[in-house]
Amino acid sequence: MTMKPTIRRIQQKVGVTPDGIIGPCTLSAISRALGVAESKAPLWPTQAEVRRGTSRFGRPGNEAQLTSVMPPYPLLYEGSPVRSIRVHGAIATHVQQALREVLEHYGSAEIHRLGLDLYGGCYNYRPTSGGGALSMHAWGIALDFSPDANAYSFKSPRATLSRPECVAWWQIWEAHGAVSLGRERNYDWMHLQFARLS
Ligand SMILES: [Zn+2]
Repeated sequence: MTMKPTIRRIQQKVGVTPDGIIGPCTLSAISRALGVAESKAPLWPTQAEVRRGTSRFGRPGNEAQLTSVMPPYPLLYEGSPVRSIRVHGAIATHVQQALREVLEHYGSAEIHRLGLDLYGGCYNYRPTSGGGALSMHAWGIALDFSPDANAYSFKSPRATLSRPECVAWWQIWEAHGAVSLGRERNYDWMHLQFARLS
C-alpha cells in the first residue's frame, strides 16, 4: 500500500505537479490553500536601531527620504479627502500593497464601516505620545488610522481597531512586517510601524 495516489490528488487540488513527493513547493501550495500565511514578511530594524540613525531608514526629520503613495481606496484626514500620503521611500511599496490587500479583503463599504479609511498621518517630527524618545513618525515609518476611536490610552475592546473584525486588517500589515502597538501592548491602537519593538 502506498500514500502516493492520495498525495497526487492533494497536489492536483492545490495546483502543483502531481509527482507524489511532498517537497517545499507542495507544502507552500498546501499552506496557501489552507489560508496559512507563509512567513515572507520583511525584517525591519528595531526601534532602537532606527533611533540610532544608522539603520536603512537614515536620520529622523529628513524629508528627502519621503515619497508619495496614492492610496488605492479613498482616505480621509480630519474629514478631508487625502490625495496621497507621504511615507519613507523604503516602506512605500509595502504601504501601497497592504492597502490594496485591505481593499480586496474588506471592500469599500466595510472599510468605511470599520473606519479603515480614516487616516491619522504618517510623517511627523515629534517625540512619542509617551514622551521622551523620538516617535517612529519622525522617520515616516509609522502610520495612524482611525485616531479618534483609537486614542493612545484606549484599550481593547474600547479601541475599535482591537475588535475581531479588524484582525484581518492587522494580519495584512503584519505580513508586510509592520508592528501594531495595540496588538503587542494594548495601547495606541491607531498606530502601526515598520520597526520592531525589540
Ligand atoms: Zn502613531
